[in-house]
Parts: sequence; C-alpha cells; structure tokens
Amino acid sequence: MPELPEVETIRRELEPHVVGRSVSGLEFNWEGIVRRASLEEFSSRLIGQRIIGLGRRGKYLIFRLSSGQALIIHLKMTGSLWLKDPEKFVRAIIHLDDGTNIYFRDPRKFGIMWLTDDEESVGGKLGPEALGKGFTAKVLAAKLKSRTAPIKALLCDQGLVAGIGNMYADEALFLAKIHPLRAGGSLTEEEVKRLHKAIQRVLRVGINDKGASTDTYFRPSGQPGTAHWRFRVAHRRGENCPLCGTPLERIPVRHRGSYFCPKCQKA
Ligand SMILES: [Zn+2]
Repeated sequence: MPELPEVETIRRELEPHVVGRSVSGLEFNWEGIVRRASLEEFSSRLIGQRIIGLGRRGKYLIFRLSSGQALIIHLKMTGSLWLKDPEKFVRAIIHLDDGTNIYFRDPRKFGIMWLTDDEESVGGKLGPEALGKGFTAKVLAAKLKSRTAPIKALLCDQGLVAGIGNMYADEALFLAKIHPLRAGGSLTEEEVKRLHKAIQRVLRVGINDKGASTDTYFRPSGQPGTAHWRFRVAHRRGENCPLCGTPLERIPVRHRGSYFCPKCQKA
C-alpha cells in the first residue's frame, strides 16, 4: 500500500503537470472509483475546474480547485497515478486542457476519489502529519500513554499519526530497536524519543528514494521507486538481520505481517 513517501513522491512529480491546468474530460472503466456522487454528477462538477494546487494529508492526495472545492484521491492498496498510459488496470482517466492525461491505475480496484467542499473533513479524522511540526516526541509520548495496543498497530492508526503504514512502521521499529508487539504505553521516554526520530528518518529517506516499489506502486512516469532497496526488515522474508545476522521473523500484528529481528527488538 502506498504510504506517506509514495504519496508524497506522486504529489511532487504530478504537481508541475497539473497546477494551473483545467479538467477537460473524464473517462471511467470502473464506476466504484467515485464515492459520494454518481459518475455523471462527479463529471459535471469537476469538468471545467482549474487545479490551483496539489496537496497531501497523510495518504490522501488533495487537488485544490478554483471553485474552493477539492478533488480527493486515496490510492488504497494498489493504486497509482500515471502520466502515460499504463495499458493495464486503468480505472479512470482525467484529461487536462493542455493534453495531459492522468491515468488512475489500480489492479485491485480499492482506490477512490471524491469531490468535497471541505478538505478539512478529510484531515479532521487524521492525527498529526508524521513529518509535520505538530508531531514531536512529546506528542507521540502523550498519544501512547496508557495504550495497551501493540505499538506496531498504533503506528499504523491514521488517527494517531497520519502517513505511516505497514512497511515504514516495521522499518522505524527496527531502527528504534522496539518489538512490534510491545504495548504502546510500555515504551520508556527514551524509547519514544528513539522511535520518533526513527519514524521521521525512514519517511524522509523513503521520499528521497521516491517510494518503495515492493508490489504495485509506480511513480507518475511509470518508473519504480527504490526505497525498498534500503529496507532492513520490511518485506525481507527469509533474510537475516543486517545488524546481528539473526534470521528475521514475521508475525501477524492485527492481521498485518510484521517483520522484525527477535534479537535486536526484544519482547
Ligand atoms: Zn538483529
């Protein structure tokens, strides 16, 4: 699933192609991609609008429109936005007035888009941005206080902090040497500080490497990202810990596979 580094990479690479352009047409191959409106209503509201900015909140992409409305896109499990025709799995195409086309590629069809008058209604349910000024070690400590859920599950909870998913949670916990099943509230002040630093580090490195193409994520150019080359535990099934050589383990935490080193990240 695209996480903060993947969505931010898409935002940065699409931005110069879309800002200042108007939507001139829409095509759909999968009607379930539009929420909260019929395809006709969605099209008639969106066509003709100018895109004045491209933002991101957590894993949501926000196309700000001249009317004050916003087109929100969530790529969910397998979505990506392409500037060239990916040929397969195209569920929608957004045509712009200069001939640019944005192809919504989505093999598993979980991706969604909708129009809203109030983009805050997206942000309202989300915790602070993982790379934002509002997310400090102190804020993280307050949010974890007396929580009994596994730290891995808490990091993936978008209401606690926005942008982190399975891959970067595993990487951050490895870097901070914290076992994924530790109760959130059991972390010491020192561990919380380490974890906060680790979260911001893995996300920044992930953005620099243009996201992780472990599965179905691609950049708008159709090229893969390279962040997964640097992963030390995430998706490293059957490999050994890069620090101590112990075989990595994979356990389910709230139904998600979590990779960790049983020696470096003690229970
Ligand atoms: Zn290890």
